[in-house]
Amino acid sequence: IITATGLTKSFGPTQALRGIDLTVERGEVLAVMGPSGSGKSTLVHCLAGVISPDSGSVVLDGTDLTALSPDQRAKVRLQRIGFVFQFGQLLPDLTATDNVALPLLMAGRSRRAANTQAIAWLDRLGLGDQADKSPGSMSGGQAQRVAIARALVTRPAVLFADEPTGSLDSVSSESVLGAMLEVVRESGTTVVLITHDARTAAYADREVIVRDGLLSGAYASVPA
Ligand code: ATP
Ligand code: MG
Repeated sequence: IITATGLTKSFGPTQALRGIDLTVERGEVLAVMGPSGSGKSTLVHCLAGVISPDSGSVVLDGTDLTALSPDQRAKVRLQRIGFVFQFGQLLPDLTATDNVALPLLMAGRSRRAANTQAIAWLDRLGLGDQADKSPGSMSGGQAQRVAIARALVTRPAVLFADEPTGSLDSVSSESVLGAMLEVVRESGTTVVLITHDARTAAYADREVIVRDGLLSGAYASVPA
């Protein structure tokens, strides 16, 4: 579902990506690992069309993202991509329902339809009784479930998650990841998951390791 070829990206003198080729199959859960500063976030931002590589191409679900204008890329992101950041992209004072409904409203759905969908996704992530609470008054794990519900509410073809549980303790982390993976496996959503944690990576079908802006190894992980 994703074919990336020859990706490079520099920030001033820093070569964050130095020539990455990567294919992700439809329905696959891929873990992206590697040391801090190795280029994981930069890679995933290029794959998701959040930033443009300096050279190389990314074809996602049949669309060459690198051939699109920033506006066209934003539209593809809204329609086909979900993104969960490590922290801070929820609106802390809106309710969980309003946060999750937001991408649907941006896509032109009615408030009523958006709220119904939002509540259904919160429910699937175990937050059925928290829909009227604001993320600012939730635990870190609950807030990350809201972020995951928001990334999935548009039924994206690919879900990208950059250390979605990086700020949580290991018990909350496991329960959030478990909830996320149950939902994505049910819906057949492709997932690209950045993690530092080998236990998290064990949930994936495959892992790749980024070192110094290059993929250092691609191999099938041992099934759990
Ligand atoms: P971490 O595990 O700490 O999140 P990472 O593997 O995600 O690290 P990246 O964020 O992709 O690493 O960064 C790769 C390199 O590019 C680093 O040297 C970083 O300092 C640099 N870099 C990333 N984004 C920018 C930016 N917007 N401006 C300048 N340099 C950047
Ligand atoms: Mg990063």
